[in-house]
Amino acid sequence: MSNTNIPYKIYLEENEMPKEWYNVRADMKKKPAPLLNPATLKPVTAEELGHVFCDELVAQELNETDRFIVIPQEIQDFYRMYRPSPLVRAYCLEKKLGTPAKIYYKFEGNNTSGSHKLNSAIAQAYYAKKQGLKGVTTETGAGQWGTALSMACSYFDLDCQVYMVKVSYEQKPFRREVMRTYGAAVTPSPSETTEVGRKILAEFPGTGGSLGCAISEAVEAATTQEGYRYVLGSVLSQVLLHQSVIGMETKIAMDKYGIKPDIIIGCAGGGSNLGGLISPFMGEKLRGEADYRFIAVEPASCPSLTRGVYAYDFCDTGKVCPLQKMYTLGSGFMPSPNHAGGLRYHGMSAILSELYDQGLMEAISVEQTSVFEAAQMFARVEGILPAPESSHAIRAAVDEAVRCRETGEEKTILFGLTGTGYFDMYAYGAYNDGKMSDYIPTDEEIKKSTDMLPDIDSISSN
Ligand SMILES: *Cc1c(COP(=O)(O)O)cnc(C)c1O
Repeated sequence: MSNTNIPYKIYLEENEMPKEWYNVRADMKKKPAPLLNPATLKPVTAEELGHVFCDELVAQELNETDRFIVIPQEIQDFYRMYRPSPLVRAYCLEKKLGTPAKIYYKFEGNNTSGSHKLNSAIAQAYYAKKQGLKGVTTETGAGQWGTALSMACSYFDLDCQVYMVKVSYEQKPFRREVMRTYGAAVTPSPSETTEVGRKILAEFPGTGGSLGCAISEAVEAATTQEGYRYVLGSVLSQVLLHQSVIGMETKIAMDKYGIKPDIIIGCAGGGSNLGGLISPFMGEKLRGEADYRFIAVEPASCPSLTRGVYAYDFCDTGKVCPLQKMYTLGSGFMPSPNHAGGLRYHGMSAILSELYDQGLMEAISVEQTSVFEAAQMFARVEGILPAPESSHAIRAAVDEAVRCRETGEEKTILFGLTGTGYFDMYAYGAYNDGKMSDYIPTDEEIKKSTDMLPDIDSISSN
């Protein structure tokens, strides 16, 4: 089909919706390195992981061979309430930029939680319910994941306990109330309710908390209560698997109109939306069927792919989670306090780390004032108020489109617009008042934190 009459929004019919998730690891010749047990430094077994995660999710976490995994009917039914998410041809943005490039974005903000995180939350809640559990525990930073999980748990009538990074708990009371409205119990982290929380409070009194610290508390809460498991909203391979629904829908919609993207762009925090969006396209690249450029966009103030090291590291500050080989800034890395753009996790998905290490994906970093500049322009021409996280991808897509204007190339650019920014108005306010600044960590600061990485080689050769 010709590429001329593309509607503003490309939707799928219900019968065209994906019925399977795609597991990109099945097509990777060199797989991501295994998770290690932090105590034995041996690859974790399903049994060990089963103390922390639901059984079915453990199986998915360790599954490197099945290319497709059927989406259970109950999850497909839930997806239908807010999916397919629209694939939008950004005609207005193209016109504004005067670019010959064709720009598309997949918008995941069309649900109450306001982001793509619901795609995995509903899957994780479903498997917890199916296992007969009472509830789940988790951490949340800015609050999107906690909100998504609260929605999913209320749908399946599961108890939901959320450890929310203390600064966010105080600065984002509306997110907190959305979670409580869906029935979740929200605790500011670090808290006195866990041993690891008390330890961190003793060491750093008055700390505003961090994601890594909230993870440690949530894991402890899950493993010390009967009938509870821990769930995580990013980074893990199971989460990328669930998020592949984004890429599957995009691919089906694009194929319908004969569109082939040249460049696929996504923001990267822990890597789940980007991994989900690119998975089916990356599969084609890995199988030698097609070629694409993939670009991960991260904040200059938390640059794990572009300036981190590829090594085994802890996923959490409390060092209770399995060790993962990934691009990391070190589990003690804290982005500068002026950082407002999200994407503040110190590490990156093991799958994306390995793909990046093999040269199959590129990564860039962008500074936050330029991110908000792109966000504001996008809001004004395309109507959607984007999340700061998503706006990293907008920045990169705009820069690529401007490059096309200079070279005259008619490239097709696809990016993931992961969510809306209604709860980020303090950050927008700082930008609007001209008070936002940029911060780029020095090499010494990064080295100070990566010097603390666990010394796996010397320990395991003992
Ligand atoms: C959580 C979040 C992200 C970053 O997480 P990934 O796992 O890297 O996708 C990006 N955008 C929004 C709106 C989010 O809520």
